[in-house]
Amino acid sequence: MAENKSALQQIRSELDSLSAQGLRRRLRTVTGPQRSETTLDSQPTTILCSNNYLGLADDLRLQALAVEAIREYGCSSGASRLISGTMSLHRQLEKELAAFKGTEGALVYNCGYMANLGVLATVVGDGDAVYSDALNHASIVDGCRLSRAVVNIYRHGDVQHLADLLAAGSAYRRRLIVTDSVFSMDGDLAPLPEIVALAQKYDALLLVDDAHATGVLGDHGRGSGSHFSLPASAIDLLMGTLGKALGSYGAFVAGRQEYLDYLTNKSRPFIYTTALPPAVLGASLAAVRVLQNEPGLVAELRKKILYTRSRLRDLGFTVPDDPTPIIPIIVGDAGRTMELSEKFLAAGIFIQGIRPPTVEAGKSRLRVTITRDLSWSRIDEILAVFASFRDLFPPVAER
Ligand code: PMP
Repeated sequence: MAENKSALQQIRSELDSLSAQGLRRRLRTVTGPQRSETTLDSQPTTILCSNNYLGLADDLRLQALAVEAIREYGCSSGASRLISGTMSLHRQLEKELAAFKGTEGALVYNCGYMANLGVLATVVGDGDAVYSDALNHASIVDGCRLSRAVVNIYRHGDVQHLADLLAAGSAYRRRLIVTDSVFSMDGDLAPLPEIVALAQKYDALLLVDDAHATGVLGDHGRGSGSHFSLPASAIDLLMGTLGKALGSYGAFVAGRQEYLDYLTNKSRPFIYTTALPPAVLGASLAAVRVLQNEPGLVAELRKKILYTRSRLRDLGFTVPDDPTPIIPIIVGDAGRTMELSEKFLAAGIFIQGIRPPTVEAGKSRLRVTITRDLSWSRIDEILAVFASFRDLFPPVAER
């Protein structure tokens, strides 16, 4: 019986059971620079699953400002933000992010995971209610749990369900709707204009996770609000990340200064951790400036996304018509997904298989992502590999 086993034995048998179900995960090591053409476990490989959408991770301008920041300010912030860790670089980045998003202010967090935890656990609590899309990111799920608010999960993208839940619960002190704008494993968009209207109708706060929209959607990659032509004031708390399209690391919350002051005073994942170091801030600043000055990068990414999606469709893959770089190719079974991932790897293309618990059982998938630094000729070669593997994918009916 499990209770009589030592902790180590229990852990071993849990790992064995993960292996038996095809769900055991292992780390793969990128041994070259972080770009689409690199080396993985020392083999030349094309990465087709990273979030480095604009290919900025090894951009020389980001490198230069990161190095300059180290030279000028050193390697560490040395303390948390409210002690002595706030450096002029944090303030500068916050100022430029607010200008980029068109909001009163922005507050830098150490990463998106912490920002989501930090906002949710601060803005709502006992006696409050959260309304969260069923496919929201794990950091939102964890933030909801940590908040101790009543959590209402609405069916994915279903605004009618959200409206029904909001209509049914008016007794709460405060209410907050939270959604990814681009869903990280499906690449589809939340119906933001309708959600904004519901937030206004029911006087609920709105938190939008723009992790996969920042640098990708909207004018100059300003994000989902711009994509849907919403005024910046429509989203109370906008969370964006700097470690995906922006090629650096970290995250921010943009919105009214009073909300940001509240977070500065009360948000534990903001307060109780060492502030981001100069190199990271330098790279982030450079990335925001690249977006401001070079909208052509976002346009090039978009062309490559549209092209790849439509060619995959021509090859008979079921590919939804979303404007995002995340293309889920649903396989179904976890083991089969990993076999296909291995097949692509043997052909020099790394597409990580996504399995439960990240996605629902029976919905395992290859999560293909398009990055701007893939050359057009390489995209065509990759599509040829998809064509040659077409029959290895289960027919649609089986998925
Ligand atoms: N939100 C979403 C939708 C994400 O996909 C991720 C990262 N995978 C995060 C938040 C967390 O961001 P970070 O990686 O900066 O912690």
